[in-house]
Amino acid sequence: PIVVTKIAAGEVIERPASVVKELLENSVDAGSTRIDIDLEQGGTELIRVVDDGGGIDSDDLPLAFISHATSKLTEADDLFRISTMGFRGEALASIGGVAQVTLQSRTPDRPSGAEIRCDGGELSPIRPWGGSSGTRIEVRHLFHNFPVRKKFLKSIATELGHVCETVTRLALANPGLHLVLRHNNKMVYEIPASASLPDRVALFFGGEVRDALYEVDSGEAPIRLTGFIADPKCDRGNPKLQYLFVNGRWFRDRSVGHALQEAYRGLLMTGRYAAGFLFLTVPPDQVDVNVHPTKAEVRFRENSLIYSLVRATIKTRLLKENL
Ligand code: ADP
Ligand code: MG
Repeated sequence: PIVVTKIAAGEVIERPASVVKELLENSVDAGSTRIDIDLEQGGTELIRVVDDGGGIDSDDLPLAFISHATSKLTEADDLFRISTMGFRGEALASIGGVAQVTLQSRTPDRPSGAEIRCDGGELSPIRPWGGSSGTRIEVRHLFHNFPVRKKFLKSIATELGHVCETVTRLALANPGLHLVLRHNNKMVYEIPASASLPDRVALFFGGEVRDALYEVDSGEAPIRLTGFIADPKCDRGNPKLQYLFVNGRWFRDRSVGHALQEAYRGLLMTGRYAAGFLFLTVPPDQVDVNVHPTKAEVRFRENSLIYSLVRATIKTRLLKENL
């Protein structure tokens, strides 16, 4: 059998939620309209992701687990014009190195699909598969061959919580996507395609937050801010309800969070956070998403411009509500 190297797995795959994140991003990249996620024991026993996307050609199936094999970049230059969630070609290779994976897929133009397994980096021969078009991945016994890393996993409830956060970010970033999350055969979230962003906010954070939302839009421009902020009086004693996205990708950023907080200056009780669901559209060559393997952090070419745009747009919107 072909042996896939186990390098770099630790960087990207830390816990079940990291697996879910990578699989969901692949499903989104494949143009899926519906994604079903099933977990057992917080994802430590089983993570199954089924999508209705474009699938993988049977001939390309073994490549999916090869490190640095990606179908998404054609030229080196593409790294500065990234429009897909994935581009490193490392996720499936990493997951296949630390779990027992079954990958089944069919492209819409083929009468049947194929299946391949990868266990601790060892690939099985390809077999025919009769499922419907799209991709179905099962990841079993995460870290079964890495007892030390397995020991670092937390309780089932904690691991499930991390997966829920991952699914929340993806659901907020992709209105129009039908998402289902089940844990031990029980429904956790069912988000229909028709659910708008405020509907999604209501589903995850409650109706009071949705009812307190104001829409923001900085207007058509190369760099644009859209999304929703919450009335400062809406206080559920919540931790930070600050979700930031750039070009459809969730990211963590001190500076943008600070700009949001600054726009609320004088309106909040001390110690409270401004709530916002903010989407930046930035020309791809002005944002580097390749700063960190998990792509949680990004770097903007014009950081101070983004800061002012966020603060000014939100401040103006709050003033319009006489706040
Ligand atoms: P990357 O997403 O960075 O390209 P991955 O290791 O996540 O790398 O995936 C490797 C390749 O496998 C992808 O480039 C894609 O061609 C294919 N692939 C993985 N998951 C899916 C999916 N759900 N639908 C279609 N193709 C997929
Ligand atoms: Mg990927």
